[in-house]
Amino acid sequence: MTQLTLADWQTRAAAVQFEGRAFINGAYTAPASGRSFPTRNPATRQILCQVAECAAADVDAAVSAAREAFNRGVWADQAPMARKRVLLRFAELIRAHRDELALLESLDTGKPISDARAVDVAGAAYCVQWFAEAIDKVGGEVAPLASNLLGTVTREPVGVVAAVVPWNFPLLMASWKFAPALAAGNSVILKPSEKSPLTAIRIAGLAHEAGVPAGVFQVLPGDGEVGKLLSLHLDVDCLAFTGSTGVGKRIMGYAAESNLKRVWLELGGKSPNIVLEDCPDVAAAARAAAGGIFFNQGEMCSAGSRVLVHRSIYAEFVAAFTDAARAYTPGDPLDPATRMGAIVDDVQYERVLGYIQLGRSEGRCLLGGNGVMTERGYFITPTIFEASPHSRIAREEIFGPVCTLIVFDSEDEAIDIANDSEYGLAAALWTRDVSRAHRLSRRLRAGTVWINCYDEGGDMNLPFGGYKQSGNGRDKSLHALEKYTELKTTLLKLG
Ligand code: NAP
Ligand code: MG
Repeated sequence: MTQLTLADWQTRAAAVQFEGRAFINGAYTAPASGRSFPTRNPATRQILCQVAECAAADVDAAVSAAREAFNRGVWADQAPMARKRVLLRFAELIRAHRDELALLESLDTGKPISDARAVDVAGAAYCVQWFAEAIDKVGGEVAPLASNLLGTVTREPVGVVAAVVPWNFPLLMASWKFAPALAAGNSVILKPSEKSPLTAIRIAGLAHEAGVPAGVFQVLPGDGEVGKLLSLHLDVDCLAFTGSTGVGKRIMGYAAESNLKRVWLELGGKSPNIVLEDCPDVAAAARAAAGGIFFNQGEMCSAGSRVLVHRSIYAEFVAAFTDAARAYTPGDPLDPATRMGAIVDDVQYERVLGYIQLGRSEGRCLLGGNGVMTERGYFITPTIFEASPHSRIAREEIFGPVCTLIVFDSEDEAIDIANDSEYGLAAALWTRDVSRAHRLSRRLRAGTVWINCYDEGGDMNLPFGGYKQSGNGRDKSLHALEKYTELKTTLLKLG
C-alpha cells in the first residue's frame, strides 16, 4: 500500500463523519438527558464534534441490557469456538478500518498518525485476535481426589464487566480489557476518557457488525461521573480500570461502598531506567531511553521518566541522550514523519509546564523546557533535567515529555533509588553481565523489568501490570482471563 501523505490525511480529516453517541443495547443512542460535551483536537484546539454526556439513566439502561444479555446466555453460553469466530471477525474489521480509526485517534489525542496506525490500531486488532484464538484452548482442572469423588475446577465469566480507560492509548488500553472480557463470555460496558472518546464509540459499531450480540458490548462516553456510577453500581460485577492512582483508590472505595465488585487497577508509574557502567552500547541505550520517555509525548504509564546513569559514563550518555531526544521535536500529528505530537489538552499541558517550572528550581535543565507552537495547539519540546532523586520531578508522575536524569556511583545505590517509589510498574537496566542482569532484576520491585531494551513487549504473551501503587492484576497474556472469570469448584460424590 502506498504511504499516505500529510495532504492525504488532511483531506481525510476534513471529510470525517464523527459519531458521538453512546452505544447501548445494539444501537447508537442519544443520552436520556440530551446533553453533550465537545471533544477537541489538541493540535489545533478545534472542536471535532459533540459527544454524548451519559448519566445515571444511560448507565442503568446499559447495565440492565448487559445483565439481560448475560442472563439469557446469548454470548456467555455460546461455545468458545463460536465466540472466537465473532471476535476474529471483529479483529479483521478493526484492521479493515485501520486508517479511519488511526485518524480518529490522532485527531482526538494529538498523537502522531504513524504511531496511531502502527501501535494503537494494529495493537488493538492483534489483542482482539489473540484472545479470540486463545479462548477455545484454555480449559479447567480435575482435582486429584479420593477415588469416589470427582472434583472439577472451572472458570466462568464474572458477568457484567465495566472497563474505565484513559486517554493516552484510548483504543489499545480499552482492547486490553474488553478483548479478554468478551472472550471469556462477559457483557462489557466501556467508558472511554472524556478527552478521547471517538475510537471507542466507533468500534462499538464494528463489534456489532462482527456479530457481538446486543447488550454484550456497549460504550458510554461521559465525564468522571459515568466511571463513578459504574463503580458504585450494584449490578456491575467487575470494574477494570486503567488510569491514575488517585482515581484508582477512589474506585476501590466505591466497590467497598457498594457490592464488593472485583476491582482491577492499572495505574501510574515513575519507572527507573538504569544505565550501569558496563552498558553494552551507550548510544543504543540513549536512543532507547529517549523512546522510553518521549514516545507518545511522554504520556505513557510505563514511561522511563527516571534515567539513572553511572557516573563513569554520564557525560557520554548525556551527549547521546540529548541528541536522540531531538528526534522527538514536536510536529503536525498528521504528518507521517512526525514522531511527537500534541499534549492531549490544556489541563495536561498546563500540568506538564508546571512541572517544567518546578524542574528549573529543583534541577538543571539540559534540553527543552518550553511549550512551542502554542498559537496552534498544545506542543511541548522534549525536556531533560538533571536532579536529585529526592526532588519532586524525580518522584512524581508528570505524564509528559519530561525526563529526570540521576547520577549514581554504585549498583546498590541505583537499586535503592529505583525502589524508593510508591510506584512499581516497570524498570529497565543496561549491563553486559547476564548474572548481574538477573540478580538486579530480582531486586527491582516492578511488574516488568527490561534488560538492554526499553518498552519492548508488544507481544500479547507478556503480562503487564504493576507492583505497589501501580495497581493489581495483569493485562495481556492468559493471566488477564483470571480477572474476568470466577473459579467454580464442582464436587461430585460417585455412587
Ligand atoms: P484518570 O484521570 O485517572 O482517568 C481515567 C479514567 O477514569 C477516565 O475514563 C476518567 O473519566 C475516569 N474517572 C475519572 N474520575 C473518576 C471517578 N471518580 N470514578 C471513576 N472513574 C473516574 O487518568 P487519565 O488522566 O485518563 O490517564 C493518565 C493516568 O493513567 C496516568 O496516571 C497513567 O500512568 C495511567 N495509565 C496507566 C496505565 C497502566 O497500564 N498501568 C496505562 C495507561 C495510563 P473522565 O476522563 O471522563 O473523567
Ligand atoms: Mg480530544
